Amino acid sequence: MERFTGSFTQQEPIPEDAIEAAIAVMRHGRLHRYNTAPGEVPEVALLEQEFAEAMGARYALAVASGGYALGCALRAVQVAPGEAVLTNAFTLAPVPGAIASLGARPVFVETLADLTIDMDHLAVQARASGARVLMLSHMRGHICDMDRLVALCADLGLTLIEDCAHTMGARWRGTQSGQHGAVACYSTQTYKHLNSGEGGFLTTDDADLMARAVMLSGSYMLYARHRAAPPPEAFEGLRWTTPNISGRMDNLRAAILRPQLKRLDAQCAAWTARYRGVEAGLKGTPGVSLIDRPEAEDFVGSSFQFRLDGWSEAKIRSYLDRCGARGVELKWFGAAEPSGFTSRYDSWHYAQPAPLPATDRVLAGLIDMRLPLTFSLEDCAQIAGILRAEAGALYQAP
Ligand SMILES: *Cc1c(COP(=O)(O)O)cnc(C)c1O
Repeated sequence: MERFTGSFTQQEPIPEDAIEAAIAVMRHGRLHRYNTAPGEVPEVALLEQEFAEAMGARYALAVASGGYALGCALRAVQVAPGEAVLTNAFTLAPVPGAIASLGARPVFVETLADLTIDMDHLAVQARASGARVLMLSHMRGHICDMDRLVALCADLGLTLIEDCAHTMGARWRGTQSGQHGAVACYSTQTYKHLNSGEGGFLTTDDADLMARAVMLSGSYMLYARHRAAPPPEAFEGLRWTTPNISGRMDNLRAAILRPQLKRLDAQCAAWTARYRGVEAGLKGTPGVSLIDRPEAEDFVGSSFQFRLDGWSEAKIRSYLDRCGARGVELKWFGAAEPSGFTSRYDSWHYAQPAPLPATDRVLAGLIDMRLPLTFSLEDCAQIAGILRAEAGALYQAP
């Protein structure tokens, strides 16, 4: 029986020019972003400038992780302890974790079958909780109708923070993901669209929010050295009152990110070609529901999801085992116990989550798979063939 032999957790190597740039930083030894030789512009400041430009944002701040960016964004919009913060129930653990890190309270919103936020339920939850902030996670790259969402947030008086961990380089109706809200957060952790091991960004067009974020990140009153932040006047009212919650990025990571950023568009296109390959190979498979991708959504297909709606738990487990035995490593969001990266809103007991029956129905059959760029288009066709054959064998069986 045909078996796939690629690794679902193997990303591409760091490009040679990025390795060279990293070595140069190590040779001079000035790894801290504010440690500069006379006249030198450090890698982090250059990266921020380039990232802001690439995302179409006025300001950018490079930080230690995506999760740090989320917490920093919440602090910059001045969420208070005990305050309710809305977020979609289908998200990753660092999102409710960032909310909890401020002593704030995550309030989860139902998920639709296309894996986006249920906006009717959002309105209900916003009114019931009195929340004034929505942290919207574009989870696994699925973007909701952003035109409708932005209008709804305005109606409900919600400040929008976008978690773009899976949508760096994506667009909605031509507008870059991250440009619809007050602040956007990105991750450069190994499994995202740029790889520095750990790292993240925060972008905004709002001078006051960026000044707060820069102070929070640990700028030691050296904010004038940033090139993608507002001028020193913007810091005047904040410098005495904003705590330093250190979470800076260093020059070594920035050095390996700058050459990768230049290739982001090409990488995103390569991911989406792989996604479309798997999708085409799975189309029409009985028992398998593909996720609807709207015309307006220019997504980055760095991972692939599908649903096995109505399958019993035993049948899904058997499907995962059979695909696994043929080298296709799948994750399942329906298991009772959280494992690896697939924890679920009801695994986060500290947030005291209320049951969300619609989300439970969607997650019960939700299968998830990474698509690293080390896979070729032929690999993707082979993977789809295995997914299809195993579904065919099981779906009809009693
Ligand atoms: C990866 C990720 C983050 C942030 O992750 P870090 O590991 O802290 O960089 C946030 N949200 C989502 C949806 C993610 O996948």
